[in-house]
Amino acid sequence: MNLLGQKISRLIEVTGPMSVADYMAHCLFDPEYGYYTTREPFGAAGDFITAPEVSQMFGELVGIWLYAAWQAAGAPQDAVFCEIGPGRGTLMKDMLRTLARVAPAFLKSHRFTLVEASPRLKAVQRRVLTDTPVPLHWYDRIEELPTGPLFIVGNELFDAVPIRQYVKTGTGWRERVVAFDADGGLAFMAGAGALDPALLPPEAARAADGTIFEISPAREAIMDVIAARLAKDGGAGLFIDYGYEGPALGDTLQAVRRHAYEDTLASPGEADLTAHVDFTALAKVARSHGLASRLMLQRDFLLGLGLLERAGRLGAGKSMEEQERIRSEVERLADPEQMGVLFKVLAVMLPEMSVPPFGNAIDLNPCLPHDPRV
Ligand code: SAH
Repeated sequence: MNLLGQKISRLIEVTGPMSVADYMAHCLFDPEYGYYTTREPFGAAGDFITAPEVSQMFGELVGIWLYAAWQAAGAPQDAVFCEIGPGRGTLMKDMLRTLARVAPAFLKSHRFTLVEASPRLKAVQRRVLTDTPVPLHWYDRIEELPTGPLFIVGNELFDAVPIRQYVKTGTGWRERVVAFDADGGLAFMAGAGALDPALLPPEAARAADGTIFEISPAREAIMDVIAARLAKDGGAGLFIDYGYEGPALGDTLQAVRRHAYEDTLASPGEADLTAHVDFTALAKVARSHGLASRLMLQRDFLLGLGLLERAGRLGAGKSMEEQERIRSEVERLADPEQMGVLFKVLAVMLPEMSVPPFGNAIDLNPCLPHDPRV
């Protein structure tokens, strides 16, 4: 067992079985051995590739969207632009480069900020984000951001925020916990905690024993802070992630290392540990603050913002090889077999705002209910 596994085992010995949420939090953010606190996970040489790392076009289009959202909000003075969970800082870099070209005056008159929980990733971001057209400011938490209308984006933030799991047993739904198996290794078990049945989807009644159901109070708490802020000061939020319209049954907890799945309990802290996002649950929190919420497939969002046109301009006059690279980036981001359909984009904003390419009613049903791991 690795060092974090030993640390988690000692905790379980002392305090009893550990919730999946606590297990995830230790794996990702343990100050000594946590994944985000100690590793460099991103990119082709790392464990996984995110959309901003696939192509500069992603950050360019997201930058344009934030600018359009600011205009739709009435072009307020003194707005705060923020990326939460910036990883390597690539998305912010691409957004700023684009905005410096299309709206230099706008760029100079607002504050650009990053919220990052990992001190080590903060240092990586500071290295990547030198020579930016505007000064940047880092914060540990959303609550510390300066006041003013807020325009905030998070790519693959929520999948890294802990979930709780429940398992169906002969005696009802019980919280799934990490405890010891007969050999003293880590294993999932049904714990004592019960679940509010009102949270379950209707098909739960017919589900077999062993079926898993997930909720994430920690994600909802983050959305609650953001939504309260947007309702008070104005602005908009854009959150891109892999996920589904909940509530839905299924185990989506996954550990990924070097672009391959591995056992979620095998090497705590050494692999990225995430779970699919229930966008309906997040939208509900936003609505409870009087905000409107809209959900689109990543494919439709990017195509709606002009991904193909941008790719065409980027490739114009370039070598065949370069053009082929750009074409494969478009495919990676938008193809339904790749990131186009599994990834979704949730926008939250004041109800009077309308920002393209979000219309009023987006029907995701053709591809949902969607949980590829069930
Ligand atoms: N957005 C980046 C990185 C995604 S990984 C990309 O697309 O490449 C998740 C990121 O969210 C990491 O930077 C991680 O440290 C950060 N993070 C996780 N929980 C957070 C929280 N509660 N507040 C701020 N950042 C968080």
